[in-house]
Amino acid sequence: MNQKELLKVDHLKQYFPIKGGFLGRTINYVKAVDDVSFDIYEGETLSVVGESGCGKSTTGRAILRLDEPTDGTIEFNGEDLLSLNKRELRKRRKDLQVIFQDPYASLNPRQTVGNIITEAMSIQNAVPKEKQRERAIELLETVGLNGEQIDRYPHEFSGGQRQRIGIARALSVNPKLIICDEAVSALDVSVQAQVLNLLKKLQRQFKLTFLFIAHDLGVVRHISDRIIVMYLGKIVEIADKKSLFDNPQHPYTRSLLSAIPTPDPEKKKERIILQGDVPSPISPPAGCRFHTRCPFATEICQTEVPDLRHLNHMKEGHHAACHHIENIKSGDIKPNHSESKA
Ligand code: SF4
Repeated sequence: MNQKELLKVDHLKQYFPIKGGFLGRTINYVKAVDDVSFDIYEGETLSVVGESGCGKSTTGRAILRLDEPTDGTIEFNGEDLLSLNKRELRKRRKDLQVIFQDPYASLNPRQTVGNIITEAMSIQNAVPKEKQRERAIELLETVGLNGEQIDRYPHEFSGGQRQRIGIARALSVNPKLIICDEAVSALDVSVQAQVLNLLKKLQRQFKLTFLFIAHDLGVVRHISDRIIVMYLGKIVEIADKKSLFDNPQHPYTRSLLSAIPTPDPEKKKERIILQGDVPSPISPPAGCRFHTRCPFATEICQTEVPDLRHLNHMKEGHHAACHHIENIKSGDIKPNHSESKA
C-alpha cells in the first residue's frame, strides 16, 4: 500500500497487575494485549473486532495513553508517543480524539452542549475565544443537529443525538485520528446506520482517519477499509474488508462471520459453533490461544504459537495466525463441530 502511515503500533503489550496476598504484592497479570503490531494509514478506517475481553478497547486506550502500555512502541506521524511527557502529550491529544460507547456518560450533564464543545477548543487553543461559540454552532450543524440547541443540556437529547454531540466535540480540535470505541454499539440499529453514514461523510469532509473498535462484524462492514480480528489479546487475522468477508482464513474469523445472518433465507451456510467461553487472559492457553474452542485444533495447536502468515491464495496485506490455513482450505482438516443453518 502506498498510503502514508499515520500510526504505527509495534509489539504492544498491556499487562495489568493482579495484587493479592497479605502484602498486596503482584501475584499475576491480566495479559489484555499481548504483542500486537499494526499500522494505520492516513485517511483509512481500520476496524478492530472481537468478543469482549479480546483487548480491542485496551489497545485503543493504550494508543491514547489513557493506560500506560507495558511494552512496545507507538508512533504517530513519526513521533514516539510513549516518550512524550504530560505536557507534550496534552498537546498531541489535539490530533488524537476518542468517541466512547456511552455518549451520556462521556458528556458532563451539568454543562450545556455549547460549553462541552468550546471547552475542548479552549484546552487545546484550537479556536480563538471570540470565535468558539460560532464554531460550536457550525459543528452542531455539521453533525446534523440544530445550532439553536447550543444552550441545551445533554439529557435533552436522544442517544443518537448525544453521540453526534460527542462527535462534534471530537471534531472541535481538528483531529487527524479519531478512535471510535464501540461508538455505535449502544444505539438502535437504524440510528447506528445514521451515525455510521455521518462518520463516513465527516471522514471525507475533514480527511479523518478512524480506528473503529467494535464487537460486531456486521457494523464494521459498513465503515471499514481494513479489519483486524483479535482474540484473547492477540491479532488472529488482518485483511482488507473484501478479503476478510469473501475469503476469511482464521477459524475464529470464520465463526464470527458464520454467525451473521444471510440476507437470503434460502441460502444455507455452514455455521461454525465455538465450544465454551473465552478463556481467562490471566492464564491464556498455551500454543494457539484459540485451541480450546477451535473446531480444527490438532496437537501442534496446543504447544506452538502460530505467527501471522501470508500465503499465495491470500490478497496482499492479508495475514492470519493459524497453523492449518492450507489444510483447512484444502479440506484435509474437517471441523469437529459445526452445523448447517438456514
Ligand atoms: Fe485452530 Fe490450530 Fe489454527 Fe489455532 S492454529 S486457529 S487452534 S487450527
